[in-house]
Amino acid sequence: MRDVVALFKGRLAGLVVCGVAAAVAHGADRSSIAALVAEWNQPAEPFHVLGPIYYVGTEELGAWLIQTQAGLILLDGGLPESAPLIENNIKRLGFRLTDIRYLLNSHAHFDHSGGLAQLKRDTGAQMLASAGDRISLETGTYLGSEDVAAVTAPPVAVDRVIGDGDIVQLGEVKLTALVMPGHTRGCTSWLMPIRDQDVAHQVIFYCSTTVAANRLVPKPQYPGIIDDYRATFTRLKEVRADVFLSNHKDFFDLWGKRSRLGQSTNNPFINADELQAFVALSAVEFERDLAAQSRAALRKE
Ligand SMILES: [Zn+2]
Repeated sequence: MRDVVALFKGRLAGLVVCGVAAAVAHGADRSSIAALVAEWNQPAEPFHVLGPIYYVGTEELGAWLIQTQAGLILLDGGLPESAPLIENNIKRLGFRLTDIRYLLNSHAHFDHSGGLAQLKRDTGAQMLASAGDRISLETGTYLGSEDVAAVTAPPVAVDRVIGDGDIVQLGEVKLTALVMPGHTRGCTSWLMPIRDQDVAHQVIFYCSTTVAANRLVPKPQYPGIIDDYRATFTRLKEVRADVFLSNHKDFFDLWGKRSRLGQSTNNPFINADELQAFVALSAVEFERDLAAQSRAALRKE
């Protein structure tokens, strides 16, 4: 457990979202975060992770393909600029875009939902999303920073609204929605039982609990955001999963694990401590960020 905490130390804190935070704060246009976008949109090799799960994202931004007997599910679309890379990765693995039945989204921020409009067009899949994130997806805006051009995304229509605890089933695969508001109002993790090498595992595709560009005080990103974060942390303490996958590479040491994949019989993506270590550290960082924003607000008064 301690190793995992050490692994994450400083990672969440110094995460490269500061560029986004600055852009959101200053009402900048897209060119102001062009360097960040270019960095996050580096292509990456797709690969089989475990069970029915494949990585098809960019070097920085997660996108997950789930294979079932009845077709494919794609979770997250990266940036608007990531859609062609994700499509190419899916094809390189030998899958067909038109076999994708469902598109899911961890949360409606342009770096995870930006590619969904194109992906929906090119696959013909149904877009499923939480009620809390629906408006952001359908307007292509960043909740609470709707006027900031730098962080908009092509709008994508939601075909089916998902509630907390709802199950999305395709073939033999079942994904259960864990709606965990805070990072966005409809931030959704997905829980999925799998079998890999004849052993049962519980996968979590983790939305996010970082503060990132969110304003907490004095003018919150959305009303109730602080209570939402705290309730989400309390709830997450009860969640058990031994495969922790997410949407930014440093949340789960994506490429470190990738480099160890296949080197022994132990799959490096299986780690029963990782989820709770991440939640504990993220909760501490949330209170620290809240305190910092509160101090800054007082100084401005
Ligand atoms: Zn986000």
